[in-house]
Amino acid sequence: MSHSNQSTDGPVVKRYRRESPKSESNQSDDDSYVPYVPVKHRQKAMHQQLTRVRDLVSSTDEERSRTGFDDHENRTADGSKAAEVVDELDEWRKSNVSLLDQHNELKKKFELKKESAIEKQLKEEEKLLESVAEKKALMAVSELAKGIQYFDPIKTGWQPPRHIREIPKEKHEALRQKYRILVEGEDIPEPIKTFKEMKFPKSIINALKKKKITKPSPIQMQGLPAVLSGRDMIGIAFTGSGKTLVFVMPVIMFSLEQELSLPFIKDEGPYGLIICPSRELAKQTYEIIQYYCEALMHSGMPSLRACLCIGGVSIKEQADLIRRGVHIMVATPGRLMDMLEKKMIGLHVCRYLVLDEADRMIDMGFEEDVRTIFSYFKGQRQTLLFSATMPKKIQNFARSALVKPVTVNVGRAGAASKDVEQQVEYVKQEAKIVHLLDTLQKTEPPVLIFAEKKQDVDAIHEYLLLKGVEAVAIHGGKDQEERSRAVAEFRRSEKDVLVATDVASKGLDFQEIKHVINYDMPGDIEDYVHRIGRTGRYGRQGIATTFINKSIEESILLDLKHLLIEAKQILPPFLEALQSESEKYLDLGDERGCAYCGGLGHRITNCPKLEAMQNKQASSVGRKDYLAAGTADW
Ligand code: AMP
Repeated sequence: MSHSNQSTDGPVVKRYRRESPKSESNQSDDDSYVPYVPVKHRQKAMHQQLTRVRDLVSSTDEERSRTGFDDHENRTADGSKAAEVVDELDEWRKSNVSLLDQHNELKKKFELKKESAIEKQLKEEEKLLESVAEKKALMAVSELAKGIQYFDPIKTGWQPPRHIREIPKEKHEALRQKYRILVEGEDIPEPIKTFKEMKFPKSIINALKKKKITKPSPIQMQGLPAVLSGRDMIGIAFTGSGKTLVFVMPVIMFSLEQELSLPFIKDEGPYGLIICPSRELAKQTYEIIQYYCEALMHSGMPSLRACLCIGGVSIKEQADLIRRGVHIMVATPGRLMDMLEKKMIGLHVCRYLVLDEADRMIDMGFEEDVRTIFSYFKGQRQTLLFSATMPKKIQNFARSALVKPVTVNVGRAGAASKDVEQQVEYVKQEAKIVHLLDTLQKTEPPVLIFAEKKQDVDAIHEYLLLKGVEAVAIHGGKDQEERSRAVAEFRRSEKDVLVATDVASKGLDFQEIKHVINYDMPGDIEDYVHRIGRTGRYGRQGIATTFINKSIEESILLDLKHLLIEAKQILPPFLEALQSESEKYLDLGDERGCAYCGGLGHRITNCPKLEAMQNKQASSVGRKDYLAAGTADW
């Protein structure tokens, strides 16, 4: 019997099968001839077999006690399993049940056992998720202290056209199904198929057309009516699906409404605040807002003022602009906190708050900053959270900051865009830089190259320049002027390649990136999804190449493997060969993969990110205790 054919049910079965009935009944060795054996003989053979198994179990026990072998666990497990099987078979034999029925009964028992193992796993996961659930709601301390709670969404002057309101609910549901829009929440606003029916002014519709945007994308069909009706929202859609317009267009319309009824005066505003995790993303969003505000102004509407508050640029210039009164502010958390603390800006009239790439922001450690920013709000606001990756853990805890939220989900949270062809290549560490040049030949420019470390970005940049490649680079260690210049040159197609750390992986929308190269695999599968999402945007096709080697942790490789399977990509042989014990529990319950980090290759019970977080917490508790003890000694 070949090894691969062996049963995995444990040693008893192996022993049982070795005592094959063939040798008992002295049959011919000729395998091709299988003579008829009467039932009576078969029953007799089986009886003999059972007796042998029983003897074997007791002789093994004797042998163990004789040799002093006292691995208690193995002994009891092997022995009792064998005894169990023997007892079960004995019972059947006595009751004269057919072999087929015996087989079915055994199968049923096995299924039951399997189910209870799954239940156990799910219960364990639930407990774990509960234990790591944020105890503190994502609300400002002042809001919590005053016990302020709002139950009704903010009221706006917008409502869908009558003919849309009169369409039966089932038709709206059918539209959602057609575009794979999943919604959660109470009284969900109707999805709408055209910008005109959403009541945007002509000048906006024309400005959209100039950008070749003629029809709302699925996230816009459902998201825009929800936001325009004043609802709080969690928006989850794959990278490059048009999320930005879902929060940009309504805030422009609300600001216009405000300005028309009572113009903003000096020092007033902002009415809308958009917070982004990186300066580049903030700048991009600000430019989109400027574009539509200008389009409105050219059509004779009042001028709306937007401002950009990010680190690395003069705070004074920003403050001067704000003093003139602003409608919309786009900011990164650090600079915003700074300006709030210095009382250069206030949020008392702010009624609209967006956290773009919300989960990334919380992951990057901005959670406390976000809470502090919330504390500057006076009165109710409309809160919107957006991202392509939003694990359940963050959704649950973010809900505490939302009022009757609507969750709009297009595709699984954390799924990669289907328009990206993902190629994964095994490249030895020392061969990577040379292999990069070959990989660059796969497509024409523009190409984005990502690396985890700033030093690697610099090394790749230098190497490419030496080889005559028109490349620019950005990372957190470079000054803002250099970063902005590099991004601008790359955007204008003056440079072919942009080398960057993850500062460029979230939300940045470069036109027609042909190829994303991951010089290394990020430590987090969510960062991988964001990185490769810089290509294959809005229906265009793109390629992503990722270099991996044996320095990469197995758990992240398993996440990658299952992400590739989900996106129906070709699995390279080394990922295919990668197998883990934990993979058998991957598709349990409603939640696929890990409820903590969203990785598809493991469950929350063995999440490396959660483990790292717990270790960090444990060491900081230890440190606090140590420091506290030190103080007491003084
Ligand atoms: P976003 O996911 O918001 O970064 O948008 C990705 C890209 O899709 C941007 O270049 C948008 O201009 C473009 N886009 C957004 N909405 C639409 C639409 N409804 N139709 C066509 N292109 C769109």
